[in-house]
Amino acid sequence: MNKEKRVLITGAAGFLGSHLCDKFIAQGFSVIGMDNFITGDKKNISHLSNHPNFTFIEHDVTEFIKIEGQLDYILHFASPASPIDYLKIPIQTLKVGSLGTHNLLGLAKAKNARILIASTSEVYGDPLVHPQPESYFGNVSTIGPRGVYDEAKRFQESITMAYHRFHGLEVRIVRIFNTYGPRMRLNDGRVIPAFMGQILRGEDLTVFGDGLQTRSFCYVDDQVEGIYRLLFSDYSEPVNIGNPNEITILDFAEEIIKLSNSNQKIVFKPLPQDDPIQRQPDISLAKRLLDWEPKVIREIGMKITFNYFKGLSHDELYKKEH
Ligand code: NAD
Ligand code: UDP
Repeated sequence: MNKEKRVLITGAAGFLGSHLCDKFIAQGFSVIGMDNFITGDKKNISHLSNHPNFTFIEHDVTEFIKIEGQLDYILHFASPASPIDYLKIPIQTLKVGSLGTHNLLGLAKAKNARILIASTSEVYGDPLVHPQPESYFGNVSTIGPRGVYDEAKRFQESITMAYHRFHGLEVRIVRIFNTYGPRMRLNDGRVIPAFMGQILRGEDLTVFGDGLQTRSFCYVDDQVEGIYRLLFSDYSEPVNIGNPNEITILDFAEEIIKLSNSNQKIVFKPLPQDDPIQRQPDISLAKRLLDWEPKVIREIGMKITFNYFKGLSHDELYKKEH
């Protein structure tokens, strides 16, 4: 019955975008995936290439977007998401969050479609309030190296709310906290692929700073379910989706060593500039509004993810650059 409903997913060849394509296809929607492969991988959607309900358009969303026919929903997930990616391509990161979002809002308005945009816990910056509720305004350096991502996402939220208030567009905003799972890029620099790659290559695990900074990791299936419920809710303002189970990076490195039955050492490297010291989502709003909370415990999610990385080829394991 959803078959007549068409959904455009940008960033479709990326980690989250590809899982969202799977979810919407499984629910019977007709899915158009869009990506320019700047940080994504064709392999993430190759299993969908012959699916009758899936079409793919290679396109940079910062350029004008043309879609023929009806469109019911848009999920805007295109954007570099890992600190080393957005430090390497800072201008594209700013453009996809600003110009790209503007194009997609314009498209949503023209098609009378509902749009959900992927925001991030990074809008809270290095937070002075803990855990972070949606009402917290954040602590972000506009000119720091991470500012290119954080400020693009903050602008993205502002322009989305402006389209909602000024044009009456139906909008949804998800603030995603660190999410992991199969199809992350092994060399994207984020902590889970970094540690797992190091385990598989027999290298030391690189903990940045003293490792006492914290993160709270959410398994991808839980994240996708939260996003799906948010899209079909009637709430237009930002909602945190993440797993509140917080851990220090040092404890996390030790946990991964144990989980993989390896005996690698931990080495300490300098903490990157503006690296947030603590991060934990307050998910009271999502619980109340969406009747949602994460279900997959870290031990299980990590095992699934580690098995995925174990299945990569030798070349993929040792590939340095994207
Ligand atoms: P990813 O890098 O795996 O996926 C992003 C995808 O967007 C890639 O396939 C890339 O090629 C594509 N893309 C980038 N710029 C584009 C452009 N101009 N035109 C078309 N395609 C473009 O990252 P991800 O982890 O899947 O993140 C997806 C979204 O979720 C991002 O918007 C990110 O900010 C947000 N997010 C993710 C997390 C997380 O923990 N994974 C946390 C917070 C927010
Ligand atoms: N980190 C680390 N070693 C690595 C990669 C990352 O100690 O090899 C730390 C990083 O400094 C940060 C945390 O792990 O404190 C999470 O980093 P990630 O890049 O995954 O995402 P962030 O939450 O910082 O956007």
